[in-house]
Amino acid sequence: MAHYDVVIIGGGIIGLSVSYYLLLKKKKVLILEKGELGSGASSSCDDAIFLQSKKPGILLDMTLESVQMYKSLSKELKTDLEFENRGGMVLIEDDIQLKAMEEFVKIQNSHGLPVEMLDRKDVLKKQPFVRKDIKASTYCSKDSQVNPLKVMRGFLKKGTALGLELKTHVEITEIVQRENYWEIVLKDGIRIKTEYVVNAAGAWASDIGRLIDIDIPIRPKRGQIIVTQQVPSLGETNAWSADYIAAKMNPQIVQRKPKRYRELGIGLALSQASSGNYLIGSTREYVGFDKSTTYEALTMIMHEALRLFPILKNVHMIRSFAGLRPASEDGKAIVGEVDGKKGFYIAAGHEGDGIALAPITGKVMASMICGEKVIYPMEELNLNRFQNQKKNGG
Ligand SMILES: Cc1cc2nc3c(=O)[nH]c(=O)nc-3n(C[C@H](O)[C@H](O)[C@H](O)COP(=O)(O)OP(=O)(O)OC[C@H]3O[C@@H](n4cnc5c(N)ncnc54)[C@H](O)[C@@H]3O)c2cc1C
Repeated sequence: MAHYDVVIIGGGIIGLSVSYYLLLKKKKVLILEKGELGSGASSSCDDAIFLQSKKPGILLDMTLESVQMYKSLSKELKTDLEFENRGGMVLIEDDIQLKAMEEFVKIQNSHGLPVEMLDRKDVLKKQPFVRKDIKASTYCSKDSQVNPLKVMRGFLKKGTALGLELKTHVEITEIVQRENYWEIVLKDGIRIKTEYVVNAAGAWASDIGRLIDIDIPIRPKRGQIIVTQQVPSLGETNAWSADYIAAKMNPQIVQRKPKRYRELGIGLALSQASSGNYLIGSTREYVGFDKSTTYEALTMIMHEALRLFPILKNVHMIRSFAGLRPASEDGKAIVGEVDGKKGFYIAAGHEGDGIALAPITGKVMASMICGEKVIYPMEELNLNRFQNQKKNGG
């Protein structure tokens, strides 16, 4: 029977990152992937390392470290990850949004995240093509972006050089806990022995959980995106509509939107890839594992984009796609060892932040598996928080 230190289930950006940081610690690592590497959310998403969307706490702190890691990763992985630090703006259209965003920014500032409020004049300096009656915006100079495909390629290239092993197009039929190790059984009868298992199966993580009788509250949240032709930059930074962000702080804000917009979770996320193509998103929908795009949602996304950036009427849309965010019940990733299942770890449920959080998730998981100290309060991201909430009547 083949024997590994760690078997990672899922070859998306999270699984690949975890593998890389374990390989640096000289672990023998195998990734099991049911399709092609990167065939999940990590190749059907936006590219933001978006700091100002996060409430202060562990995920903001981890994203800040991820940004630092990304700054040197291109060199380390010998792959241009197209990391850029352009900053980001949340566009504000009325007083209600303004109030919510001012409160949010105050909290972020008090935790040391540099986010400013800009008035119309300053917004138009940075975004000359935004609608002229825009009220205000936020601006965070630390918001950045990276190409997720290149990140995965970089982890894979360097990982392979460090001894990473891969099996793609596999079907796992059993995961059995033995006295001091785990045994993974594949449909073709192959059995694999490993000291540690990492469930990095993204939106499918709960399927893997069922194989060892645990409930992992992660489900797919679809997002649809439109891609434009390559064009010169429309503005200095990437931009989001306040509805997309302020709703996190005050759900009342989106109540004013038409019912169907709310049901589809429409909000504008506009970012330009290094290639010059704009990515225009998105939706937040619970439709199971259906990865299709819909005419209805794409029309609404485009409507939002044209309302805020009328100049886009001159830009061709060249394609669209949808991806499945791995969404946990409370919106936070699940990262850590499962109680009562020694050696079985989860690194999944990053929802709309998995690209931003990939390097730090890999680093933290590798440290946990190697028994090293982690500076973050990881109990906040442990699976047992859901059981504890239930016990406490939450
Ligand atoms: C529209 C959209 C926009 C987004 N924008 C951003 C953004 O701007 N910034 C950001 O940080 N994040 C963004 N995200 C979120 C980000 O894409 C995800 O959080 C991230 O890709 C999750 O990575 P993952 O490796 O956990 O999951 P995935 O990439 O889905 O990888 C999981 C892998 O596990 C495999 N798998 C599943 N089941 C099994 C099994 N039984 N056996 C073996 N393998 C299995 C799958 O085939 C898949 O390859 C966005 C997502 C979407 C959909």
